[in-house]
Amino acid sequence: MNAHDGMYIGGEWRAAAGGDTIAVLNPVDEQVIGHVPAGTAEDVDAAVRAARAALPGWAATPPAERAAGLAALRDRLVARKDEIAETISAELGAPLPFAQAVQTGLPIAIAGSYAELAASYSFEEKVGNSTVYQEPVGVVGAITPWNYPLHQIVNKVAPALAAGCTVVLKPAEDTPLTAQLFAEAVHEVGLPAGVFNLVTGLGPVAGQALAEHEGVDLVSFTGSTAVGKQIGATAGAAVKRVALELGGKSANVILPSADLAKAVNVGVANVMGNSGQTCSAWTRMLVHTDRYDEAVELASAAAAKYTVGDRVGPLVNAKQLARVRGYIEKGVEEGARIVAGGAEAPLEQGYYVSPTIFADVTPEMTIAQEEIFGPVVSIIRYEDEDDALRIANGTVYGLAGGVWAGDEAEAVAFARRMDTGQVDINGGRFNPLAPFGGYKQSGVGRELGVHGLTEYLQTKSLQF
Ligand code: NAD
Repeated sequence: MNAHDGMYIGGEWRAAAGGDTIAVLNPVDEQVIGHVPAGTAEDVDAAVRAARAALPGWAATPPAERAAGLAALRDRLVARKDEIAETISAELGAPLPFAQAVQTGLPIAIAGSYAELAASYSFEEKVGNSTVYQEPVGVVGAITPWNYPLHQIVNKVAPALAAGCTVVLKPAEDTPLTAQLFAEAVHEVGLPAGVFNLVTGLGPVAGQALAEHEGVDLVSFTGSTAVGKQIGATAGAAVKRVALELGGKSANVILPSADLAKAVNVGVANVMGNSGQTCSAWTRMLVHTDRYDEAVELASAAAAKYTVGDRVGPLVNAKQLARVRGYIEKGVEEGARIVAGGAEAPLEQGYYVSPTIFADVTPEMTIAQEEIFGPVVSIIRYEDEDDALRIANGTVYGLAGGVWAGDEAEAVAFARRMDTGQVDINGGRFNPLAPFGGYKQSGVGRELGVHGLTEYLQTKSLQF
């Protein structure tokens, strides 16, 4: 377990001002595996002050030195990758191979990408008789969810540090142990005190205090749309920068010319990974009416391969379990047909849900409109391409999606008409340098790559 069980503020480890703690559970067996400080507004204030004090020095540090710091951080994460994966597996319940490859390997690669970007990005350019400078926005308040504990932290902290910002992180209360390991790695690198600070605690207490703090220049939030709206309103009232990565209800559109078996199998796998707790998951599968029955059979056969406990971990907590079960029951009530899985508990212990496939889902049903955040796929029938597009674009969300067609150009033409931030063509691989973020109510701003870096920069021009 972690060497430190406190918060990390101004380069030191400490308990919460009020002395309270939060228990951390393993969702596999519901046992307590640790305690972290329940940070309060007082702790947030101390962390923001530390970040403000460190800002002038870090902002003035040459980008090449900031890049070296990030490269050293990446190396520390690599050195501790087994410990990190085991911690993520323990507090999230993710099966270890997934925790190693995706939950740990990917964010380490992203940390490396920002070490490179910090070194290569032009923070200064000539435009006619002007010199345009890209300067750090200032103190960043980063608020992250539990579904990809390290990935969500790295997606915000790495570009912020690369840009010359200082950071106060408030990680999700379900997965704070990974955040402590990250803070240990920062400490081992020896970044100046206050450049990175960690306040653990509850969302409506520590999270809200951070979002409202007047010493924070930019709030970067990933989580639910409901909380995102509140944070956006708070930031708007203070004319403060805000980046929001919110929910999704992404469509996997299988055009008639597609390789159906491949599109269905990859589509089911996309949702089952991380037990459906992925904001970009393709939770709606859109299939042409002529191939609908075949797709339903393929999907239910595919779901049967995802054994609960072994390949599919539990949901993160009892609240999520109740929520996902409620959605499955609602789907049945509204007339959808379960062809795999269902709401019954598959195991006696742990917050597990069986991989569930719904057929006969219509676009207006609750399970086709709202984010479930569990291993549940809704298969929806369409009549022609325009109908498919109308259904694909027919939710308040627009985060990701997939398009499959025999001809790549046909898939691209369809994808360009989708109101969504990212689309995989015929199962295209995840690219850690490609901008990730939402259209519509899926969010504001982009993470990853150069677009993720510029979120943390503001522009100044000098005329000569
Ligand atoms: P959540 O919004 O409840 O919590 C996210 C974070 O916000 C946590 O750290 C939490 O403590 C904090 N928080 C909660 N209430 C707050 C408040 N009033 N003020 C400030 N901070 C507060 O979401 P969750 O249940 O942890 O995560 C699941 C949701 O997040 C899903 O809807 C999912 O789609 C979304 N999500 C989106 C992305 C993305 O990149 N778009 C990624 C992961 C998760």
